[in-house]
Amino acid sequence: MKQYRIAAIPGDGIGQEVIAAGIEVLDALAERDGSFGFAFDRFDWGSDYYKAHGVMMPKDGLAQIEGHDAIFFGAVGAPDVPDHITLWGLRLAICQPFDQYANVRPTRILPGITSPLRHVTGPELDWVIVRENSEGEYAGVGGRVHQGHANEVATDVSMMTRSGVERIIRYAFALARTRPRKLLTVVTKSNAQRHAMVMWDEIAAEVAADFPDVAWDKMLVDAMTMRMTMKPQTLDTIVATNLHADILSDLAAALAGSLGIAPTANINPERRFPSMFEPIHGSAFDIAGKGIANPVGTFWTACQMLEHLGEQPAADRLMRAVERVTADPALHTPDLGGTATTRAVTEAVIAAIRGDNG
Ligand code: NAD
Ligand code: MN
Repeated sequence: MKQYRIAAIPGDGIGQEVIAAGIEVLDALAERDGSFGFAFDRFDWGSDYYKAHGVMMPKDGLAQIEGHDAIFFGAVGAPDVPDHITLWGLRLAICQPFDQYANVRPTRILPGITSPLRHVTGPELDWVIVRENSEGEYAGVGGRVHQGHANEVATDVSMMTRSGVERIIRYAFALARTRPRKLLTVVTKSNAQRHAMVMWDEIAAEVAADFPDVAWDKMLVDAMTMRMTMKPQTLDTIVATNLHADILSDLAAALAGSLGIAPTANINPERRFPSMFEPIHGSAFDIAGKGIANPVGTFWTACQMLEHLGEQPAADRLMRAVERVTADPALHTPDLGGTATTRAVTEAVIAAIRGDNG
C-alpha cells in the first residue's frame, strides 16, 4: 500500500483548527479508498515557536520537511507578532527555497452557496488564478535608509526575471489547455510600469505561439477587477504577478461566497521539492478558538494535494463530498451566513465520503 508522508504545519489561529479537520478527512478518504495511506508528521512552527525561540522555524527546518511528499499548511499570523515576520519567517521561507513558483487558486461557486454577485449562477464563475509565486513584488529586494527620520527613503523593488516570467506564463498556458474553455487572461499593469510589465506582455506573446489551441487576451489589473465583477463569465484561466494575483484571488474568493472556502496550491512543477497546500485565508484571530472556522478551503486544497500525488479518484470523491455538504445550508458556517461549526461540517464531509459509491 502506498504511504504518503505529509508534513503538517498548522501554524497559528484557525490554522490549527482547519488542519486538524483536514487530517481527519484525509484519513477517512484513505480508509475509504484502501489503496493508500497517510503518515502525518506535525511541525509546531509559527508565532508561539517564534515567541519561545526568536525564529518562526528551526534553522534546519527546510531539511526536516524536504523529504516529505507534500506540505499541508494552515496559516500564520498573530496579533502580537508583526505580519512581515510571520510571513517571511515561515510561509515565504518555505515557498521560495522550495521554488514553489506556481500558486494555483481555483475559484467556483459551490452548490448551495450564493455569490454576492446576485445575478451570477454557478457555471458563470469558474476560474483558476495562477499566481507567480517566487519573485516580482515579493522578491524581498529593497530597504530603508534613515529609518524614522523625516528624510527616510524606503523601497520594495519588484524584480522579474525573463526565466521566472516565462515559466509561470508557460505553466498557465498549459493549465488553460486542460480546461474546457481553453482561455487564458494575462494580467499586468504595463501602461504604468513600463519595464518588467512590458517584458511580461512580450513574453506572453512569445509563449502563446507554442499554444495555438489556447485563446488568450491581456488585461490591466485595475480593469481586471471590473471584469471579474461585471463579466465573470468571460474569464477562465488567469495569470498574474505575485502581488496582483494575491489581491485578485481574495476578490475571487469573496465573489465565490467566502474567503473560508478558497484553496491554494504552491507547486514546484519539476517536483524537485515538495509542494505546499493551504487554504487562502489567514489565521483569522477574530474567530480563532471558537470552533466556527470554515474548513472547506482546507478540504478543497486537500483535493489539490491528492491530485498532485496522483490520487485523482480520491480527489474527485472528496470534492463530491464537499459539494454535498455545501449544498445544505444547515451545514454552512457563519462566514456563509449559517450557524454550523467546524466539527459539524467535518463530520458531514466524512459521512459523505463513507457513503459515496462513485
Ligand atoms: P484572514 O484571512 O485571517 O481573515 C479575514 C476575514 O475572513 C476575517 O474576518 C476572518 O474571520 C474571515 N475568515 C478567514 N478565514 C475564514 C474561515 N476559514 N472561516 C470563516 N471565516 C474566515 O485575514 P486577516 O484578518 O487580514 O489576517 C489575519 C492574520 O493572518 C494576519 O496576521 C495576516 O498576516 C495573516 N495572514 C496569513 C496568511 C497565510 O498564512 N497564508 C494569509 C492571509 C493573512
Ligand atoms: Mn493573500
